Amino acid sequence: MNEQKISIHAIPALKDNYIWIIETQAGAIIIDPGDAKPVKKYLTENQLKCIGILITHHHLDHIGGVDDLYMYDPKIQIYGPDNLNLKSPVKNPSKKIEIAGITFNIIAVPGHTLDHIAYYDGQHLFIGDTLFSAGCGRVFEGTHAQMLESLDTISKLPDETIVYCAHEYTLNNLRFAKIVEPDNLDIDQHIYWANNQSITLPSTLAKEKRINPFLRLNQPTIHKNIQKNCSNLSSRLAVFSTLRNLKDEF
Ligand SMILES: [Zn+2]
Repeated sequence: MNEQKISIHAIPALKDNYIWIIETQAGAIIIDPGDAKPVKKYLTENQLKCIGILITHHHLDHIGGVDDLYMYDPKIQIYGPDNLNLKSPVKNPSKKIEIAGITFNIIAVPGHTLDHIAYYDGQHLFIGDTLFSAGCGRVFEGTHAQMLESLDTISKLPDETIVYCAHEYTLNNLRFAKIVEPDNLDIDQHIYWANNQSITLPSTLAKEKRINPFLRLNQPTIHKNIQKNCSNLSSRLAVFSTLRNLKDEF
């Protein structure tokens, strides 16, 4: 756990991305700057200096602004997976990094991409495109088994963990969640709440465990509603796969 006072804000970018910014006494840390323009604007308006960039995976909407920000200030420390297609120097963290007095554990969460990592400081989880509120990322490079394992790893973190996802997909995800689990009142309440917010993130693991079907694979109602499509309801992987395939077509 980190003792210093930090604040975390979302910078909306591109179509529906959030670039998260951690403001510390030593400077700002930017997570997944897919576009440099709104980040520079935010830094200028708030008189902040970017000292670090954390990258979760190689997709362009997460790295598109990195080189531009680095050109602007080559003292910025950049951390991320290997083999990013960037001109800037990126350090590939293994287990832990320390930046601005904050220690982040690096958690491997393959599935959406094979290189996907998450950053966790004991309280805040920057999860990129692995977990969304009421949903999870599409499985582009890994296997469903890898993605399930990654979600299981995240689920074991404390319930009060604050989850910073990289896209505003919540309402669409909730509509799907409602179909597979129509009697879940937490989902109804969350739809009502989300409809009245301009931004629905961050979330918490506790909340996600109540509304996110991908973290609720043992729910009998979900089983009942997907049984036509699922070959083996006693296998968590088969349930996950069925949900993921149904969501892909949703
Ligand atoms: Zn992605």
